[in-house]
Amino acid sequence: MTFYRQIAVLVLFFLILILFVYPDQSGILFPLLKGIAVGGLVIVFISFAFPQVFQLGEGHLNSNDQSEDNANESSYSSAVKNHYNKLLLQILNLIRDINPQFSAAIYMIDPENKGYTCQEKSKDDFRDFIEDGNDIIAPIIKKSNLIINRKSDKNPGWDGIIDGQTWRGSETLMGFPILFTEKTVGCLLVFVDHFSSIHDRDQGIIEKLSQFISHGMEDLERMESLMVDNYFNARIANLFDQLEVKSDESELFQSIRGLCRAFFQYDKLTIVLLKGDKNKAEIKLVDGLHDDADEGEEFHIQNTLHGLAVQDNKIFCSNSWFDKYPELNRFKPDEKDEFNFMSVLSVPLKSGGKPIGAVTMERLKSKIYSETDIRLFELLCGTVSSILNWQQEYKKMHLTSIHDGLTGLLTHRAFLDRFEEEINRAGRFNQMLGLVVLDLDKFKTVNDSYGHLYGDYVLQEVSKIISDNVRTIDVVGRYGGEEFAVLLVNTDIKQCIPLAQRIVESIAKKTFLSNGIAVKITVSAGMAGFPYHSDQVRDLIYKADKAMYKTKSDGGNGVTIIEGG
Ligand code: GH3
Ligand code: MG
Ligand code: MG
Repeated sequence: MTFYRQIAVLVLFFLILILFVYPDQSGILFPLLKGIAVGGLVIVFISFAFPQVFQLGEGHLNSNDQSEDNANESSYSSAVKNHYNKLLLQILNLIRDINPQFSAAIYMIDPENKGYTCQEKSKDDFRDFIEDGNDIIAPIIKKSNLIINRKSDKNPGWDGIIDGQTWRGSETLMGFPILFTEKTVGCLLVFVDHFSSIHDRDQGIIEKLSQFISHGMEDLERMESLMVDNYFNARIANLFDQLEVKSDESELFQSIRGLCRAFFQYDKLTIVLLKGDKNKAEIKLVDGLHDDADEGEEFHIQNTLHGLAVQDNKIFCSNSWFDKYPELNRFKPDEKDEFNFMSVLSVPLKSGGKPIGAVTMERLKSKIYSETDIRLFELLCGTVSSILNWQQEYKKMHLTSIHDGLTGLLTHRAFLDRFEEEINRAGRFNQMLGLVVLDLDKFKTVNDSYGHLYGDYVLQEVSKIISDNVRTIDVVGRYGGEEFAVLLVNTDIKQCIPLAQRIVESIAKKTFLSNGIAVKITVSAGMAGFPYHSDQVRDLIYKADKAMYKTKSDGGNGVTIIEGG
């Protein structure tokens, strides 16, 4: 705009100059030029004195504002994209948590280049691009169930997906399509060196993870389409950026409080989430007036103001809610009417379209929330819903991934992680820990005599006995095939002895009876204590293991503490 104005001033300047030296000032053209010059002067004057007149005429914001808008918009989009990439990475990590032998890649259809482009991968051997019509990908994209392909099947598609290797034939690829608004847009591929490493439950988890990616994409798309206010969007983008799928929901609620304080006026802000039975809700966050209902309290949602948006699954906004719904209580039937909240804006939090909670702002004054308030609040709650869903799904899958499929105990890796955490904690609080390692005696003969399924049953029963004999704060893991490990928290090594003996005796006492087969089993245990025997995880395991082998060499069915300190 400024550039055009400068040109106009220049043209006008030359026009006036011409007027001064014009040879035939009595001619017909002279008054015409004079008229144009005067008109031009008037326009230039107005354009400098009242610039907004011209901007309004052009029907858009001035260039600075617009570029700021674009910057915000693209920063929002890039933050959303950034978050999407983070989500994909976390999914790949989760796959590795499920089974350390798994590596995975996520491919999206790339119509321009006629193929599939890799978005993220956890193993370099996955190719960055797979040609259209690849014999492995094509059926995955077409179907909606898991497809398993072994290298020994001699499918020609293998080389197009994994970079040259010396194949052994046992390598296996699992693939599941990724849908977006019910159309296939890509696929998740999981590679494993040996098919025997794939457990039954892994397939279900991979299927769930593909759906997780689909939901994530849909959430992000919906949020991008909901853009209403750029400054607000930028703040929401920050919310996305700060929060990890892995982080806790309370962190999310604290961030919402910060956003609400900055953008809305309220005397009380309340976030409630439905409990398992769906009739009750728990207050997760309160900001403002606390005295009537506070964090951690539960209430029946029926006939309550704070349960209304949840029950109706739609926004509720009113500046005299009790006139509209005189039968409603705010939280509880017997609540004290200490505060006279008049105006309310309540928006449901949703998962897969179904309500899971609500965020509610209340004002003591009767001042209706504006249309803009409603739209911004709705956008915020939509974002919060998505993040909550991701966090909850992640938590569920993470829980599955750290627990052993057969026994439900912590996996080897998860046990080590917990051990590390517990040692750090015990070090900080000057506490002691006891480690017990248990190995079933001559378990191979059980398998050989009665079959693997019977062996599995014994392992499940042994796991139950171990768990039943320790406290809930103690940590139990399946350390190997028929090896278990127990971490006795805040326990002196001497106090551990009777606990370990109790486990050993309970196993020896039990008759493992299944399908008419009755077997007796014994177990050998070894123990070491923190910090008495060592303050290192590996060292403690080594020592407890050594003690366990001492028990074995003494005939099994007993407990040994490693000697020395
Ligand atoms: P020891 O007294 O020396 O410990 O002898 P053992 O037979 O218990 O030990 P060994 O290490 O020789 O054999 C362990 C057996 O545990 C071999 C394997 O078949 C079995 N095993 C490992 N994991 C599983 C499982 O998930 N299910 C079943 N049924 N058996 C398993
Ligand atoms: Mg063993
Ligand atoms: Mg054994």
